[in-house]
Amino acid sequence: MEFYLTNAQVFDAEKGEFTQTSLKIDGKKIAAVGELPPEGAKTVDCSGKYLLPGIIDAHVHLVWDGTSPDPMGDTVKDGDYICFARGVAGAMDSLRAGVTTVRDVGSNDDCAIPLASAINRGIIPGANIIPAGGAIQGSYGHCPMIGFIANTEAQLIERIKRLKGYDIEMRIPPVHWAKIMASGGAAGLEDVGPCMYSPRELEALAYECHRLNMKVAAHALSYDAISKCVNAGIDTIEHGAEMTEEILLQMKENGQCWVPTVAVYKSLTESRGIIDDVIVNKAEIVTEKQKKSFKQAMEIGTKIILGSDAGSANFGPHPAAFQEMFVMEEYGMPAAAVIRSATIDSARELGIGDSRGSLEAGKMADIVVLDADPLADLHAFTDHLVQVYKEGSAVL
Ligand SMILES: [Zn+2]
Repeated sequence: MEFYLTNAQVFDAEKGEFTQTSLKIDGKKIAAVGELPPEGAKTVDCSGKYLLPGIIDAHVHLVWDGTSPDPMGDTVKDGDYICFARGVAGAMDSLRAGVTTVRDVGSNDDCAIPLASAINRGIIPGANIIPAGGAIQGSYGHCPMIGFIANTEAQLIERIKRLKGYDIEMRIPPVHWAKIMASGGAAGLEDVGPCMYSPRELEALAYECHRLNMKVAAHALSYDAISKCVNAGIDTIEHGAEMTEEILLQMKENGQCWVPTVAVYKSLTESRGIIDDVIVNKAEIVTEKQKKSFKQAMEIGTKIILGSDAGSANFGPHPAAFQEMFVMEEYGMPAAAVIRSATIDSARELGIGDSRGSLEAGKMADIVVLDADPLADLHAFTDHLVQVYKEGSAVL
């Protein structure tokens, strides 16, 4: 179907500003920008409306319900089928709120992979999912309930080949991503501790991923884990509490990207009495470090993309991308940069920059329509949402 969105304020992702123009949608894609509709063409008048690319959240866990104080425990109690159903609901709720793509970085029994496939094949509606499957980790790791245990170099490589195999079996655009838990976390009772893998193991993992046209994300909080992952060529560092100037500079030079997930730790610090004190205490330390390193990364120019850790304990329902936006702004990032980190920058880092992340001819028509300017107030995303399009189809 062909239609036009006219008289709209359209977000220019490169410039980070709005321009008045129109979009021609043809089927799933944006066919033209700035083309006026011919007589009789179907048009939607978007006067006073702000059109942005669909929001991309680079760090979610769809099998988790973030309204629970213990989503990790729920995963074990409820099992794979209920978790899959939660994923269906989370993907739908994300889409309805304007989060049109998510990268899922940890699910039990690789749940997020068939979920991505079901959505991609049109069996169920929902946000486009880039699934990493279960998070690779050692026997003593972080969030084993959404993990895949690999203790040796051979097991790591076998796991990557398994993930690659899903490309064909699941008929989804390649499973571009693997996720590794390189250190302990705040949202668990374990110590953050040293890096769980040796430099040699991490290098072998990164090599195998890149050889197979995949990328790899690492959950890494301690200096030991972050520095070893950066040295090994891991593509995105998730959370990254103990960042240093030297690491941020190295990441910038190498083109590696930081997904800080700042809101979830702030939320944990506000959850005393609901969440175990051990977790809250660790989150307080992470939050203090992140506030400083977030500013430092912006000064240095290290790439930052938006990831929320949606689904985490007591964090609220899916999606959580907007909570993340608000905290990124609070920590000093201008609104336009926050939006870029959740659209064009994110799309490029995740490997979908050719098809998503900006409103340009030839790209998928993933569009968020607001009736207030998000550059003036990012709350426009939550308080002034009018419509969402995913691949050219209206969602609301
Ligand atoms: Zn996570």
